[in-house]
Formats: sequence, structure tokens, C-alpha cells
Amino acid sequence: MQSTRVLRLLDILEAEYHNEARPPELGHAEPLDGLILTVLSQNTNDRNRDSAYAMMRAKFPSWESVVEAGAEQLEGVIRTAGLAHTKAARIITILKRVYADFGEYSLRELAEWETGRIREYLRELPGVGAKTVACVLLFDLKKKAFPVDTHVGRVAHRTGVVSAKYSPEEICAKFEHIVPEGRCLGGHVNMIAHGRAVCHSRKPECNICVLSGFCDKNI
Ligand code: SF4
Repeated sequence: MQSTRVLRLLDILEAEYHNEARPPELGHAEPLDGLILTVLSQNTNDRNRDSAYAMMRAKFPSWESVVEAGAEQLEGVIRTAGLAHTKAARIITILKRVYADFGEYSLRELAEWETGRIREYLRELPGVGAKTVACVLLFDLKKKAFPVDTHVGRVAHRTGVVSAKYSPEEICAKFEHIVPEGRCLGGHVNMIAHGRAVCHSRKPECNICVLSGFCDKNI
């Protein structure tokens, strides 16, 4: 059964990478911080994302000061994240929209909403796709979600726990249906760890892989 295989996959990776508990460094007390960080992360690596975010927070200590500075100044500060022109415009639009909707630069109120309503709200914001929404839900709002990035998608497809035709959004929905809430964050982090360490996009190391006997090896 597909659900049994998904849980078995997570069991094996949990024994290998030990991220079953919520890593304390993940997540933001203010979900808007997590949302903006995730917008910055699109099409770049964690190092460039974090560097751009740190520079932005150093130059503009409040979200209000980001809006006051405007897209052009912000673009110059977040350049290391790439696509700076597009990302700066999106960030300003998101901040203005959040302020208009909640009267403050905060998304803490979303924690009181049910998940479907949160998804609908966040998906209306510019540049916010399914993966971004799932990240904010899981990391910042402590809700049930299973973000599917390139590593999670690759491991899921290759092992055969989902059909090769499944899109990231379909994998996300399938995993959210199958995986118990308390295992989503650890499972997500473990799958990323495995994709980075062993199941590389090019030249996966099947000979040393803990999933070798389990995996369909759809490479
Ligand atoms: S056996 Fe190979 S393809 Fe399967 S998960 Fe491991 S490294 Fe990836």
C-alpha cells in the first residue's frame, strides 16, 4: 500500500538522519518573517537567501521601513538572492497587503485560522506558491503541512512511493494525507538531508544508500 511505503521511507530516513524532533532553529515567531524569507529563497540556495535576508534586516530594521524605502532601494540590498527586481516588488506588495488586511506588519493572526483558509489567503499573495505556503504553515504557524522542494520530490519519485507523474503539489497533498502531523517536519527535513547527501540529482550514490533495498530506483 502506498501509505505504508511512505511511512516506511520516513522510518528509514529517521533512523539515518535523526531529525524526528522539531529542530529548534527552524521557524519564526512572526510568520511574516518566514514568508518573506521564503520569497527570498526562490531560485537560489540557502546561503544566498540568508545573506540577502540578513542584509535587508540590518539595513531596514522594521517591515515598515522596508515599505518606506520602496522597491528600488530594497532591490539593491537583496541582490545576492537573485531575481532582485522581481522579489523586491513582490515583498513590497506583500507587506502592503498584510498591513491593509491586518492593520500591522504581522501574520500572527493566521495561527487562529483553519489551514484551508490560510492556504487560500497566502496563495493570493504575489509569488507565493504551494511550497512557500507549506513552509510557512509548517515552520512558522506550526500547522500540518509537508513542503515538497526539489530534494523531497526527487527522493519521492525515485523511490517509487508516489507515481513519477505526480507534481510537487500532488506529492505534498499525498504526504499530508498519509503522514501524521508530528512526523511532517522531521520527515521533510530528513528527505532533504538524504537528497543532499546521497540521492543527488546527478549520480545518486545507490551503493551506499540506506534506501537501496526499498527503492524502485526510478532514475
Ligand atoms: S537507492 Fe539510489 S535512487 Fe534510491 S533513494 Fe537511494 S540514492 Fe536515491
